[in-house]
Amino acid sequence: MSDPLALPVSEVAGIGAERAKTLSGMGLETVGDLLFAFPFRYDHYEIKDLNDVRHNERATVIGKVHSEPSLAFFGRKRSRLTVRLLVGHYLVKAVWFNRPYVKKQLTLGETVTVTGKWDQHRKTITVNEWKKGERSEDETIAPVYSVKENITVKLFRRIMETVVREFGEAVPEILPMALLERYKLMGRKDAVRALHFPESHGEIRQARRRIVYEELLLFQLKLHMFKKIRREDSEGLSQLFDSEQVDHFKQGLPFPLTAAQQRVTQEILQDLRSPQRMNRLLQGDVGSGKTVVAAICLYASINAGYQGALMVPTEILAEQHFESFKGLLAPFGVNIALLTSSVKGKERNEMLAALKSGSIDLVIGTHALIQDEIVFDQLGLAITDEQHRFGVLQRRTLTDKGPSPDVLYMTATPIPRTLAISLFGDMDVSTIDEMPAGRQPIETYWAKHSMLRRVLDFVEKELKKGRQAYVICPLIEESDKLDVQNAIEVHALLQEHFRKYKVGLMHGRLSAEEKEQVMDDFSENRFHVLVSTTVVEVGVDVPNATVMVVYDAERFGLAQLHQLRGRVGRGKAQSYCILLADPKSDNGKQRMRIMTETNDGFLLSEEDLKLRGSGDFFGRAQSGLPDFKLADLTHDYRTLETARADADQLIGSDAFWHKEIYQPLRDYLISVGATSRERID
Ligand code: ADP
Ligand code: MG
Repeated sequence: MSDPLALPVSEVAGIGAERAKTLSGMGLETVGDLLFAFPFRYDHYEIKDLNDVRHNERATVIGKVHSEPSLAFFGRKRSRLTVRLLVGHYLVKAVWFNRPYVKKQLTLGETVTVTGKWDQHRKTITVNEWKKGERSEDETIAPVYSVKENITVKLFRRIMETVVREFGEAVPEILPMALLERYKLMGRKDAVRALHFPESHGEIRQARRRIVYEELLLFQLKLHMFKKIRREDSEGLSQLFDSEQVDHFKQGLPFPLTAAQQRVTQEILQDLRSPQRMNRLLQGDVGSGKTVVAAICLYASINAGYQGALMVPTEILAEQHFESFKGLLAPFGVNIALLTSSVKGKERNEMLAALKSGSIDLVIGTHALIQDEIVFDQLGLAITDEQHRFGVLQRRTLTDKGPSPDVLYMTATPIPRTLAISLFGDMDVSTIDEMPAGRQPIETYWAKHSMLRRVLDFVEKELKKGRQAYVICPLIEESDKLDVQNAIEVHALLQEHFRKYKVGLMHGRLSAEEKEQVMDDFSENRFHVLVSTTVVEVGVDVPNATVMVVYDAERFGLAQLHQLRGRVGRGKAQSYCILLADPKSDNGKQRMRIMTETNDGFLLSEEDLKLRGSGDFFGRAQSGLPDFKLADLTHDYRTLETARADADQLIGSDAFWHKEIYQPLRDYLISVGATSRERID
């Protein structure tokens, strides 16, 4: 029997090729996708006595059409349709803007329900939504969906009516009865129906509670399975490096380590030595000096006779780390290779052969490192830098490149504790909580774009002192619609402005060689200003740069702004971050304010989480977090805790692996690769 939920959306009455295409663009391919495309809010239509409605408030009224509608046009596209309605004993005006076709639908004497903004002085309602006849009770809560192009909210509601009517009954239950009873949860198909066509706000709450629990339970089951698999093969390498040689290497570094760097290095080195497999997260704010910790640990692993791998999210960063690691490690006889997607042909083949034979000690690269053909002789330590930029899958694959390498993830995006426990509960965590000595806090200013001139004067002052500056533009392509600054234009403008200085341009469209050249020129101070898109967001290290200017800063999230700001303040000189922004929303203004008030990445991440909700915070695709439909980790963390305990209990029980009622949950685990069928049977 085929699964009706797997049918393509085009099987639904009223959805033709055109609409199916738009839906597909919204990520909705199947009937099941539609059923689980929940409203993001509900509008409430309460039919009120107009005497109780305040000026400019939204109101829904029922009235009789009392005059012939009159239609006036302004220009080609704009129009106003006016009609008098008799509402109780009052005459009010109803106005439709730019919907001339409504005229034909209004008949004298007929009853209509209209919703819109009430102008008390003019006794006029500006209509957003309307329908013929009286709105019935169950229509007073209206779902609002996120939609696009040729799919309007109204149309989407109609589609959902059909889908829920035709297919709603086919939604299978996946939770066992015991759990439904324990938490008094609504059945799955009832919850789906209620979320689309609720009868009351209470019902929405119950339905939401049900789906949130389900989402979080599945998520936790998956996580626990990964954890279990990892634990079962946690048999690791005992990497017996020569401590004296490692100390010698440390002493040769250009600066003494901070106490925090010492401590975390010790923690990691201990893990390398121990026969248990290391699974550790190293977190430390931007600029706290994680790279050198990585270098020491890689050196130790290589010293013990193994190979190391360092994976980073961008080519620019790979290139930069390659250069700096070469400087640190080559004098100690370490053979280092750089592997990115731009290494091709013969060169690549030779590199792969050398990795396999073990003659390369350390390879640095982008996600090019995790391709199948890449085979190590003896991978001892796999490090992922800026781990929040990679998905869970990508991280795992680097780990799988050796029989059981020790694994270290580094991140500058601190994860609020409540979440960390649930997301990375199986990892050990090392934290660098101190900045290298002599750092001055970066001064951050928020300026309107109209103050650009003064900002540039300020930049010039720094340039005169021999310092360098970054100027960040969000996108490279011209887009009037989004009113985005074009990096190429900004580059031309600034080169024109700073005639005595050289201005470089960096963006994602450059080839790897070009990027390398630009970065080289900037680090060697041949470019004094670097106009760039966000490709320099993470990791880039040019200590002589002291000014970071961010155009359209309101378009960035706090975490991202903090990363960008972290490109300066890397040396002893005072550094500055200038946010050019004219935010319209309160949220945007709030973000700019917070940036000027704190340099603390932990504090920022908590604020960010509050302002944006967890989905955006982690960046959906990048975090490895599932794309929850309803659950929001900021609000639902109690449920998350419950789900965590339940998942733990389920996976540990025999019944879960054998009983029929758990089949749907087991199927889910198989579908996400968290277990295999063989494992279950
Ligand atoms: P992040 O933690 O953001 O990756 P980096 O490792 O790139 O930071 O270090 C930031 C800058 O601080 C680099 O220029 C690095 O050379 C320097 N640095 C790191 N550790 C120290 C230290 N103990 N003393 C002085 N400078 C340091
Ligand atoms: Mg770094």
